[in-house]
Amino acid sequence: MAEQKKRSRQRSKSRSERAEKPRAEKPRAEKKTQPTAGFSDMQLSEVMLAALTKADYLEPTPVQAGLIPRAIAGEDLMGQAQTGTGKTAAFAIPILEGLEPQGKKADPQALVLVPTRELAVQVRDEFIKLAAGRKTHIVALYGGKPIREQAEKLRRGTDVIVGTPGRLMDFMNRGTLQMGNLRLVVLDEADRMLDIGFRPDIEKILRHCPRSRQTLLFSATIPPPVRRLAERYMRKPDMLDFSTKDVAVETIEQFYFTVDPEKKFELLAQLIRREDPAQAIIFCRTRRGTDRTSRRLAKKFDRVAGIHGDLMQQSRDRVMADFRSGKIRLLVATDVMGRGIDVTSISHIINYDIPEFCDDYIHRVGRTGRMGREGVAYTFVTPEEGNELTRVEMRINRLLKRAEIAGFEAADKPEPSEDKPSAKPVFGRRQRRIRRAL
Ligand code: AMP
Repeated sequence: MAEQKKRSRQRSKSRSERAEKPRAEKPRAEKKTQPTAGFSDMQLSEVMLAALTKADYLEPTPVQAGLIPRAIAGEDLMGQAQTGTGKTAAFAIPILEGLEPQGKKADPQALVLVPTRELAVQVRDEFIKLAAGRKTHIVALYGGKPIREQAEKLRRGTDVIVGTPGRLMDFMNRGTLQMGNLRLVVLDEADRMLDIGFRPDIEKILRHCPRSRQTLLFSATIPPPVRRLAERYMRKPDMLDFSTKDVAVETIEQFYFTVDPEKKFELLAQLIRREDPAQAIIFCRTRRGTDRTSRRLAKKFDRVAGIHGDLMQQSRDRVMADFRSGKIRLLVATDVMGRGIDVTSISHIINYDIPEFCDDYIHRVGRTGRMGREGVAYTFVTPEEGNELTRVEMRINRLLKRAEIAGFEAADKPEPSEDKPSAKPVFGRRQRRIRRAL
């Protein structure tokens, strides 16, 4: 602890010393509106304040307000936060503020580990946005793209690396990734990285990072494996809870339909016609299911696409770009692909297949209702999946409302839910309900 405090004091001292030095880079952005007290209280550099103004980030989100000052002071921190809470900037700002000016062919000073290629691109882009006015080199290293291109970027020198564990291991094994200069490492979406099976890679990577580094970990959920990772590789991290369970509960309307499996597709088509979503993600459990559903939807609706891990990287990038720009309205996705999608105009989430893991429900639903907007989520539940629905409800501490479209009720109807309270559910009631299959 004393060691940590000392470390933290040393870091804050050296950072404040750096802050006093005139910066080589001048802000290029014109000032429109000054960020409000929140950001200007954080003793950020002029160039950073200008970048925030340019990005139109006028007030810090709760994650940013809670995390940035302590991360700048050098603490190891765990943040329970989903995408959509502004967590990327919460680690990008301290990283950018802590970078030492370097010459050409510099070795990276910060490393961000992310679970998917899509997230790597998204995080890199957020860094680029926030690095406006600086000569900072940010490189994304992820699979599905030729390694040579990325290796060339790395060779030219870089300050920040954002990468997926698999591709980073490739670079480490080739000896082309220099890690001796790393001062800050971020594990983003740690729970998902562990779900995917990246634990051995993550551990190897962390073991190659300097011990004196600072480590930040973000995770939507903190199951025991994430906690164990933090215990082994972080220095007494403080845990800050910014979980959006309440946001999901309060701002996203959540319904379920009971439906027979063979009627699911027709129900989906009817629901889309009825709701006419601005943009929707339709989640399926499997890649094949994703393909099949998107093919069938495309016969009935325009602007439909599917995305899953079997697609070529180029196709995935194109689908994501089209979804972001609004060219695609209905995106059918698997959990891994859907996770981390950050498009504010997503109005609807449709769980065509109920997720296998409860936490995936939270991740899926969190794709809507972004940045305080309203959203709605529908979950299709077949008669055999009653217990899965109950598990989801226990996980989010809320009962989903039953929705109906005439002609699509499951033949095997649920019992009347006499125990559906209008106020917040209490645990005992839900426990009774878990025994009742639909
Ligand atoms: P994230 O949780 O990092 O995926 O961020 C979600 C979205 O919020 C991104 O589109 C960011 O550009 C945006 N964002 C992050 N911080 C702010 C802020 N302080 N003000 C407005 N938008 C923000």
